[in-house]
Amino acid sequence: MSIVGSIGLGIGVVVIVLLVVFYLYVLRRNRAEGSGGLVTRSRLTCPKCHQTFDYDYVPGASLTALRLGTSRYMACPLCGRWSTFDLASTRTPVNPPPTP
Ligand SMILES: [Zn+2]
Repeated sequence: MSIVGSIGLGIGVVVIVLLVVFYLYVLRRNRAEGSGGLVTRSRLTCPKCHQTFDYDYVPGASLTALRLGTSRYMACPLCGRWSTFDLASTRTPVNPPPTP
């Protein structure tokens, strides 16, 4: 392998390691604080079965849903039928402030 190739491989490994460390750091921080950060929670109502459920939305981690801007086309966890859910208008704080 050439010297340039070795340097390129080394840089690639370093970048991957840094990305993994950063992702783990963000996940741990969000879990510790319980709010803020990347995770947003939405209270969704299924248009098919009309039941409500909480959905934690993690950017870049929606592997089981199709992205449609601020909406998600995904399967309802309660009835299993696929519907479009609007995340933006139903967003709720992960830790709701205590009501006086
Ligand atoms: Zn449903």
